Amino acid sequence: MTLTEMRSLLAKRDIQLTRSLGQNFLHDGNQLRRIVDAAEIKPTDKVLEIGPGLGPLTELLLAKAGEVLAIETDARLVDFLCERFGLTSKADELPALTSEAGADASATGNPPQNLFLLHDDALKFIKREPRDWTDWKLVANLPYSVASPILVELALSPHGPARMVTTLQLEVAQRLMAQADDDDYGVLTLLVQLNYEPRGSFKIPADCFFPAPDVDSACVCLLRRATPLLPENLQATFVKIVKRGFSQRRKMMMKLLKQDWAADKLTAAFTELGISPMERAEKLSLEQFVALTKILVAGK
Ligand code: SAM
Repeated sequence: MTLTEMRSLLAKRDIQLTRSLGQNFLHDGNQLRRIVDAAEIKPTDKVLEIGPGLGPLTELLLAKAGEVLAIETDARLVDFLCERFGLTSKADELPALTSEAGADASATGNPPQNLFLLHDDALKFIKREPRDWTDWKLVANLPYSVASPILVELALSPHGPARMVTTLQLEVAQRLMAQADDDDYGVLTLLVQLNYEPRGSFKIPADCFFPAPDVDSACVCLLRRATPLLPENLQATFVKIVKRGFSQRRKMMMKLLKQDWAADKLTAAFTELGISPMERAEKLSLEQFVALTKILVAGK
């Protein structure tokens, strides 16, 4: 879909885009193809797309994937997508996610048999209906307002997607890719990288979107770790340590952790790991946070 087609389509339907829903639509065909390439989609793959908008990415995904579940919150766009893809009904009540159900959710004409379109708030849907996403890929140009909470929710889920290829504001992408001591390193980095390894990113200039946002974007590829760094039952403690450690970025981490753990336990753990009691959270690597979690849980 070209920029001209996009503009005229929105004008014809009198759709005023909503800034708070992050409605900046990607019209650059090359960038859309790069996103799909990064997802390495096979015909058997199941893909979750959050925020299909006018469907330019959806169209490319449908051509490659076995199944696409697209969740869109804006009713005007859901109506448009139903029309565009020839669906007479959207999957308000999501059936079991099988290809048979896909055929049921669509209707007459020649609608793609592998598309499920859901009218819902994706963050609420993911929280409300924890699913096994392990054999799914997330491929999405995420709405800026909910990008981080959606990623954290999926990344910390015990059954998160195998791969997440997501377009976000450049600044958020940099936080996802960061390493200890980088300016962008922080809570988002650690909560996502605990279970996902960043596998590259590329920048998408603001003028590839309509309307052009104030900032550039980037597409990030995250792969679920084959072996989790922490067992599931320790993840909540990891999250607590990370959030507390970064609650006041300029303060010494041990001082902050004293709000939750006894001083002698912390001293023993920091000594065992060779971490200075004066260290700030931003200096600790993911592996050090993981090790600290294990020691503090064991020492309780
Ligand atoms: N995928 C399209 C593209 O690349 O052009 C649109 C991407 S646009 C950045 C984000 C889309 O997410 C919009 O269509 C917006 O309506 C939708 N959206 C915003 N918040 C949402 C939410 N909580 N759940 C599902 N969709 C949402």
